[in-house]
Amino acid sequence: MSSLAEPVAKLVRELSKLPGIGPKSAQRLTYYLLRSPDEEAKTLAEAILALKEKISLCSICFNITDCDPCPICQDKKRDYSIICVVEKPSDIMPLERTGKYNGVYHVLHGTINPAEGRGPEELKIKELLSRLQNGAVKEVILATNPTVEGGATALYLTDLIKSLGVKVTRIAYGIPMGSEIEYSDGMTLSKALEGRREI
Ligand SMILES: [Zn+2]
Repeated sequence: MSSLAEPVAKLVRELSKLPGIGPKSAQRLTYYLLRSPDEEAKTLAEAILALKEKISLCSICFNITDCDPCPICQDKKRDYSIICVVEKPSDIMPLERTGKYNGVYHVLHGTINPAEGRGPEELKIKELLSRLQNGAVKEVILATNPTVEGGATALYLTDLIKSLGVKVTRIAYGIPMGSEIEYSDGMTLSKALEGRREI
């Protein structure tokens, strides 16, 4: 690595930290950028900066957004009486793509995972419960992943939500155990939503 010019070595190092990018890919991307027009590299750099500067969390659902409330929470055509609870912002897009869901969302930002020191207080659970206080929400769909942590989190939430008199459903898992919503296809997810059961 020391034989590389420092700016080259630095970009290779930084790109290697990205998921799915090994040192070889990082090097290929770096040399590609080096050869590409200044404008192209600049646009990429600006896009990365804007991502961090302009993106924040929606104050209602905690999805990532560049306006607050986010476009989904602002959409008057959506059914505000149903909230679909997901683990992370990237779970929303696949559910939206099914075209089968017209309610709103709540992003927990993780799962309960004692092994990693993550308890319920690290997640947006308080915020979810406060959305249920005024009686306008009739159903909460738990769409956490079919993993041990996703299941434990759903179980924890079920009691809390039921105690507020709100119906709780869990999406049906045609999604294989251990796999994730983020990577599920639209057909599987549509079926999972339609087949949700009250718990
Ligand atoms: Zn929102």
